[in-house]
Amino acid sequence: MILILDFDRTIFHTDAFENEYSDAVAVKKSLWKDGDLARHIYDDTIPFLEAHTHLTRVLMTYGNKEFQRAKVSGSSISPHFEHEVYTGRELKGETIKRLYGENGHAEPIVFVDDTPYQLESVVAECPEVTAVRIKRIGETKSLEPSCKGCLEVEDLKELEALLKKI
Ligand SMILES: [Mg+2]
Repeated sequence: MILILDFDRTIFHTDAFENEYSDAVAVKKSLWKDGDLARHIYDDTIPFLEAHTHLTRVLMTYGNKEFQRAKVSGSSISPHFEHEVYTGRELKGETIKRLYGENGHAEPIVFVDDTPYQLESVVAECPEVTAVRIKRIGETKSLEPSCKGCLEVEDLKELEALLKKI
């Protein structure tokens, strides 16, 4: 199984990070060092990733590539993933279709994200992919309406239970 996980608000507490680095200039200059942002990785993330090393774990994040790379390396999470994909401004449905559309779908693919429009792009472009919306309590995007064609979980513990059924 290929497990594609989003970064912001899926494994990384972006709201807490943004409260800390509210100065946009400071954020752009990446004032943190590698490891400094590890405290914003959700508590359930590393245990979850360590329990799923038998899966192909892919980190996929949208937005300014340089900034996203700085956050990922700041959070020291890379050793837990086999691949990292920085999509820039490309919707994840397009990216997944481009990267995995040719594999004949021999392996099931599960995609997890908090953002409805990303999930909807995956449902539209890659109907064979299981799209899972993570709605972490208190996170901004969790208030947006449900997205059609997606499963829902509240955290990675619930995702673990769901993966056992796939
Ligand atoms: Mg996100």
